[in-house]
Amino acid sequence: LPALGSGSKPGARPRLRIPAGLRNRPISRSPAIATRGVLASTTGLLYVVGGFLALTTAMLPSLGPATVAPMRWLAAMAILIGLVTLVRGDRFPGWSYHALVGLGTAIITALVLLAGGGTLSVSYAALYLFVAIDCFFFFGWQLASLHLLSFELAGAVAFIQVDIPLSQVLIPQGCAVVVAVLVGLLARAAAAGEQDPLTSLANRRGFERLLVDAMAVAERERTGLSIVLLDLDHFKRFNETNGHGEGDRLLSRCAAAWSRSLRSGQILARFGSDEFALILPSCPIERAGRIADNLRALISPELRCSAGVADWLDGDSASMLIGRADFAVYEAKSNGRDQTAVYGRPERAGADEIERAIRAGELEMYYQPIVALATGKEVGVEALVRWQHPERGLVMPADFIPQAERTGAILPLGAWALETACRYGAGRIRRSEPDWRIAINVSGRELRQPGYPAQVAAALAITGLPASALTLEVTESTFDADEPHVGPSLEEIRALGVRVALDDFGTGYSSLSRLDRLPVDVIKIDRSFVQAIPEQGADVPILQAIVALADALDLLVVAEGIETTRQAHVLRRLGCANAQGYLFGRPSPRLSPATLTPIGSDGLLVIRAPGDIRR
Ligand code: C2E
Ligand code: MG
Ligand code: MG
Repeated sequence: LPALGSGSKPGARPRLRIPAGLRNRPISRSPAIATRGVLASTTGLLYVVGGFLALTTAMLPSLGPATVAPMRWLAAMAILIGLVTLVRGDRFPGWSYHALVGLGTAIITALVLLAGGGTLSVSYAALYLFVAIDCFFFFGWQLASLHLLSFELAGAVAFIQVDIPLSQVLIPQGCAVVVAVLVGLLARAAAAGEQDPLTSLANRRGFERLLVDAMAVAERERTGLSIVLLDLDHFKRFNETNGHGEGDRLLSRCAAAWSRSLRSGQILARFGSDEFALILPSCPIERAGRIADNLRALISPELRCSAGVADWLDGDSASMLIGRADFAVYEAKSNGRDQTAVYGRPERAGADEIERAIRAGELEMYYQPIVALATGKEVGVEALVRWQHPERGLVMPADFIPQAERTGAILPLGAWALETACRYGAGRIRRSEPDWRIAINVSGRELRQPGYPAQVAAALAITGLPASALTLEVTESTFDADEPHVGPSLEEIRALGVRVALDDFGTGYSSLSRLDRLPVDVIKIDRSFVQAIPEQGADVPILQAIVALADALDLLVVAEGIETTRQAHVLRRLGCANAQGYLFGRPSPRLSPATLTPIGSDGLLVIRAPGDIRR
């Protein structure tokens, strides 16, 4: 399984090293709905309401001024703390909420003591219920129980101090315990709908709710926010090969490895079957890309995964943001997996990959023969690039040239192609016919570079290929770009002695009137016209017209895509000079004249070996 690296045997278990203490450790012990925002608003509200109740009670005329003053101070302090928590609480660190619960317990206990016993003390003790609700709603069972124990103990001590028999407070204190446990259970039941049972992470629903919260913070505080989607490569295949149990274990181990590396505030969720999602508050997209790379490295080389990164933009909805990250994952997958794509720069990631491929020597030049139809002799070759990708196998130019053109990676690619093909041509020319030529495809973007003719001249000088042995193939769309450089550049190139061919002729939009002004020497008739040659009869008016036109303009003609002897025969009869196609030879990395495919059936054109032609 390639996803598990070259070292893994099929069926072998992936070796993902996770520290023993982490295995099966629940990621989040507090209920998943306990986000900082909800925690802040609930705690703040309980403080404010509790404070007001205490303040109102402290207004009773029956109480002496010595008792009332500290009570009012305590109540006012509770209201103030509550208001601050409501406004700023989502920025408080996690531990501060334990401190707030502790402080609440202390204030209530002080009120119980100040009331000096009787019904007023018992009334104040009822506020312990607020503490109980807050703890069990937000904290894990153990910590919440610790808080419960501490307020029950503090209460018991206070009741003894003010001479209230415990039997009188048994019911309110007992109610607080029961309500607390019930709240804890209900909070966990509600959270279960937002939690993934396998990994204990938030599930997609939970993730979306948490993302909406995080986006609200990003919007309010203008801090920025990025998200990362992580998708395991070839997980389906792993599941099919190793079984779902093993697949589940793999997912848990990924979740554990990734959760461990996250900082506080960063939220990992299980987004889909083999897809994870990460919320990175206050994180610019570049840093998010690096974090994604680090996460991928954490599980590599045993396991590979693709990541997509997107950042929150003003006015985004959660689904828009997720959609962009999803698009980036798709880009990463379609560029060969095992990589991070950053939305907005997925193209750039692809370009980097192509440039890396050039440096790594993964590009390879193939050569396809061009023959003279009259003699069957090879008169030249066309250089056609291939990408020998370590994982995707042989990638055809249609799958990477367009992207290279969009991103600019075509410039280094073109320079490599020019030099490689010229070097090959220089080696071949000594063993070939005097007029033998090598044709190289050039993209419009290369031609638009001001220094391109000089680059061609340099390639000829470095490799020793005579200019007269080189043809550059350009397509008609190159001229549609209305670029001022292109015409003069082509003239300059022709002045060196290099020929220019118009590739895929007939598929572009050049008007006839422009054709005689284009600086070209050769037209290559597109394969589609050749394929349209009928099985019977010789009705080929368009081909006939193209050949006549080329003749009139004194241009050489090469027909592309000849696959049958009949097509060769028809073109030859029309007066087409040269041809190229699978019939004469497929593109191949090491082409020598002897590898030409022998053809022949109707006795018209038989090439047994180069230069050997029979009728
Ligand atoms: P093109 O220049 O028109 O090249 C001819 C294409 O037709 C080649 O496809 C060739 O393999 C294919 N072909 C040749 N004979 C036959 C045949 O008999 N039947 C069929 N069905 N196809 C045939 P390939 O190699 O996939 O290249 C596709 C295109 O990619 C080329 O079209 C060219 O535009 C571009 N390309 C290839 N190499 C380079 C390069 O180094 N630089 C640039 N800029 N473009 C390149
Ligand atoms: Mg071509
Ligand atoms: Mg072509």
